[in-house]
Amino acid sequence: MNEDYLQYIWRFQRFQNLDLRLTSGRNLVVMFQGHWNKQSGPDFLESRMRIDKEVWIGSTEIHVKSSDWRRHGHAQDPAYFNVVLHVVYEDDEPLVNHAGQQVPTLELKNLIDPEHLNEYHKFVGTVGQLPCAARLSEVPDISRQAWLHRMAVERLEDRYAKCMSLLNEHQFDWNAVWWLMLCRSVGFGINQEAFEVVARSIDWKWMDRWRHQPVRMEALLAGQSGWFNLEDPGFPQEVKQEYLHLVKLLKVKPLMEALWQRGRMKPANRPVVRMGQLIAIVSGGWLNWNKLLEIEDLATLRKAWKATVAAKLFSDGKGRTIVVGSKALDLIFTNALIPLMFTYGQYSNRADLTDRAIAWMESIAPEDNHITRLWSANGWKGENVLETQGQLHLHRSYCCQKKCLSCLIGINLLKDKA
Ligand code: SF4
Repeated sequence: MNEDYLQYIWRFQRFQNLDLRLTSGRNLVVMFQGHWNKQSGPDFLESRMRIDKEVWIGSTEIHVKSSDWRRHGHAQDPAYFNVVLHVVYEDDEPLVNHAGQQVPTLELKNLIDPEHLNEYHKFVGTVGQLPCAARLSEVPDISRQAWLHRMAVERLEDRYAKCMSLLNEHQFDWNAVWWLMLCRSVGFGINQEAFEVVARSIDWKWMDRWRHQPVRMEALLAGQSGWFNLEDPGFPQEVKQEYLHLVKLLKVKPLMEALWQRGRMKPANRPVVRMGQLIAIVSGGWLNWNKLLEIEDLATLRKAWKATVAAKLFSDGKGRTIVVGSKALDLIFTNALIPLMFTYGQYSNRADLTDRAIAWMESIAPEDNHITRLWSANGWKGENVLETQGQLHLHRSYCCQKKCLSCLIGINLLKDKA
């Protein structure tokens, strides 16, 4: 038995609740079970009940055993002074509150349907990454879509908190935060930390000022990345010389080359190629956050970014042109542009921008990674990034933590069962 299950039972009143008796023998009628409280403090707030003929209004606290009240140190905690009902699985010791009075206690042990409890144990006890995998096919499409949508928005809200912390750090300079997020997203997982470290060593204004000078941009980025090994013939002397000049001009120091992951990776993921894509985007003047706010249609931006490829980039050592492919664009949109657009919308109270961010997610092809493949293998193929982002959040924040009783899918599957 655990408190999560008992909270679920109380929240949905899923127990035999006719002719209820408290442990004291008094009659109990639950008029309102209370608002479920996920923060600190009692589990349910503003519960309303009738005990014999008296109406009681206050908090309800749930525990496996009544002695947990003492063990958790609630007796002297003012947050618990207005608890009017203690709901326990087993009443192993009488509960006395801070004023020395007995708190009404309801024992659920003999009121819970054993079949339902059994189903719950089967559900969360399932070995595997998705405890409900065997029953996902029972979930109607409309519930799946609605829940994934909700999960995607929850993920955006988590990212909002991270964006706000970056904005605080940068005195609400949206261009500076966009530069950091853009660089990080270009690292695509494996090198995102390295790209962020490099971005933090370069003022976005330098890049913007020199956006029409690809050699200078490349010299600064590659030099700060620690890539200039003078023995390495891969970089033209012109670029190295430029960096030496910038070191004096800007008083910058190169970072450690060891930051970079270069193990087995597709040619398109090599840091040097990603750096070229970054330069291509910057060269189009896209470090200007206000310019991005004017874009309503993602297809327009996609077209514009593809067209801003710098004529020749030296990063691959052969002076070849590097293009920003569709998949790379999708990752940048998903991991940098959309979260920051959502944050801007929330921060400035502009629902049109938060809606735009969500609509953009619906217009991007679904992601393909080991988590989205896990959902697909179980019959939940994501239709677009809104759904795959929802799947990532659901998996990480609910399934992996076995929070099935806080998940609409789990709640409905268990409700439907017994
Ligand atoms: S959290 Fe929800 S989706 Fe995940 S395994 Fe549990 S019931 Fe299924």
